[in-house]
Formats: sequence, structure tokens, C-alpha cells
Amino acid sequence: VGRLRSRVLSVNKETARFFYEQLNAPTEEAAAARAYWRGRGLSDSTIRRFGLGYAPNDFRALRMHLRAKGFTEEEMLAAGVEKRSEKGNVYDAFRGRVMTPIFDLRGNVIAFGGRVLGNEKPKYINSPETLVYKKSKAMFALSIAKKSTSRRYILCEGYMDVISLHQAGFDTAVAACGTALTAEQVRLLAEYADEVVLCYDSDEAGQKATARSLGLFSESPVKVSVLNIPNAKDPDEFIKKFGRDAFDRLLNGTSNAIEYKIQKVKSKYDITRAADRVEYIKEVIRILADGVSPTERDIYAGRLAEETDVAKAAILNQLDAAVKAG
Ligand code: ATP
Ligand code: MN
Ligand code: MN
Ligand code: MN
Repeated sequence: VGRLRSRVLSVNKETARFFYEQLNAPTEEAAAARAYWRGRGLSDSTIRRFGLGYAPNDFRALRMHLRAKGFTEEEMLAAGVEKRSEKGNVYDAFRGRVMTPIFDLRGNVIAFGGRVLGNEKPKYINSPETLVYKKSKAMFALSIAKKSTSRRYILCEGYMDVISLHQAGFDTAVAACGTALTAEQVRLLAEYADEVVLCYDSDEAGQKATARSLGLFSESPVKVSVLNIPNAKDPDEFIKKFGRDAFDRLLNGTSNAIEYKIQKVKSKYDITRAADRVEYIKEVIRILADGVSPTERDIYAGRLAEETDVAKAAILNQLDAAVKAG
């Protein structure tokens, strides 16, 4: 097993090199792939730094290359870069896609994410789990981020978000690749980060993931905060539209977990109306009654009193009752 494992790492390394070199092949599809990365605003140095590439639209180009380098089909299959059809034919897993390698902390290539150049489905194909790739433990770009002097990490949803943020100078951006965040990934981040800013997509799925991740971090020593992306669907799009300084300002105005939950609730109500104010206060009290320290309760009860124009004593009374009721 040890030997196959190291052969799989070698297959991956050679595959990453192949995809990177294919970007400069003298073909129309390679030109389209270069144009794709450029169209997404990536510089040549970002492409090199992340080892981005292109998998040609061919069922055997990679297999022929790897065979010439001395790898067996068993090794290619074990790495997940080749697949076997029902008829038993071995073929390249990634075809006609721009490729992003995923590295482990030692800098080994452990997997790939491949994106279509257009709008076809599925948008992304990721490597299967292998001897060297366990999705629940991998963290995209952590091998780069861990070199940062900052211990404030930015956790995003997608590869493109991470790559864009790094290019814009935010060198602690990372992502859980193509899976929901796991407790193992939270533990891994805690080794490098004192604070994690959740920076997921602004759509419904991103908001759900934010709520879920807040739960995971609540049991971690890492301080967690939330950055909401206004007027763009994700950090990558935000930076393209508004620039790095605008993102920097967002980073200075993140909300903590309680503030984030309160904002979510508030957006449902029109608090100029008395009936809405009552419901809004009830919901906030439910948030503050559960796992929130007495000091925090006092602070947020004060804010709630001010914005709803209700006496703080009345809110604290109701809050005490809710805490006692459990
Ligand atoms: P882009 O900006 O290129 O459209 P994105 O990163 O914004 O990509 P999302 O649709 O927001 O893409 O998805 C976030 C992440 O989820 C992706 O980076 C990828 O890791 C993963 N993902 C998305 N779609 C799929 C899919 N069909 N299969 C597997 N993983 C996927
Ligand atoms: Mn998304
Ligand atoms: Mn995107
Ligand atoms: Mn996205």
C-alpha cells in the first residue's frame, strides 16, 4: 500500500505538469483554455502559482503521456485520473476542462477539480477519493495560506474565489473543495488560524452553508465571523466588480455569529410596524437565550431595545424568562 500510495502521488504530479503544459499546446482548444483563464482575470503568475492547467478534449491524451512516463494503468486508475468503462476500457477522467490541482500541506498534488469552459453540466468534476485524497480532510490552498503572517483566514466556497482573493493579495483564502465543511477541516484550520471569516456565496445555498458552518465553529477555539457579499454572487465576482479595496472594507466590517443571526432575522421584518417589532424581539430573544454569555446578552439586549424603542428592562425580563425556560 505504501508503494502504491507514493506511485499515486507521482501520477498526480506528472498529471498536473501535463495539464499545465497543455495550456501552451499549439491547438485551438489550448488557446481557448488560456483565453478562459485570462477572461477570469488571472495573470500568468497566478496560473503558475496555483499550477492551473487544461485537460485536452481527448479520451487518451493523458493516458498515453503517463504510459510514456512509465506508469501502469493500475496506478493511473488508483490516482483517479483514469476511469474504466463498463466494457473495460480505460479512459481519461478529465476532458476539455480547465484544471485546478489540489495540494496537501506538504505540496503533493492529491486531487484535481476540472471546470467546463462554458455553461455545460456538470460545471465541475472533482477527483474521486483515493489513497491520497480524503475530501473531508482536504483544504484547498491551505498549503499556500499557511505561509502567510496573518492568522485571520478567509473561508470561501469555490476554487475561483480562493484564487481571485490570493491574486488580489488576500493570502489566507482557503476553501473546502466541493463538499460541506467538516469538523475535521475545522480542526485543521484551528492549527493555523486564530480567526476564520466565513465568506460564502450570497445565494440561498451559501447562506445555508454559513449557518451550518457557524455551528461547527461554535465548538472550536477559533473565533468565527461572517462576511456578507453585497451586490455580487461570490467573492470572486465581488472583487472583479468593485476591486480589492472594497473587499478589504468588507473584511473590516464582518459580523460575529450572533450579529449575523440577528441580521438574518431582521431582514424578515418591517420594524417600523409594532406587530413586526414584537415578532422580531421574540426571535432575537430566542437567539440570545441559547448558548450566549450574560455579557453578550446584555450588550445585544441593549441594542435591541434601542432599535425597537422598547425598554431594555422589558427585554431583559423576557430574556431571563426564556433562559430559565431553557
Ligand atoms: P465559477 O465561478 O467558476 O462558476 P464557483 O466556484 O462560483 O465557480 P459554485 O457553483 O459557487 O462555483 O460552487 C462552489 C464550489 O463547489 C466549486 O468551486 C466546486 O468546488 C464545487 N462544485 C460546484 N459545482 C459542482 C459540481 N457539479 N460537482 C462537484 N463540485 C461542484
Ligand atoms: Mn455557490
Ligand atoms: Mn463564482
Ligand atoms: Mn460561487
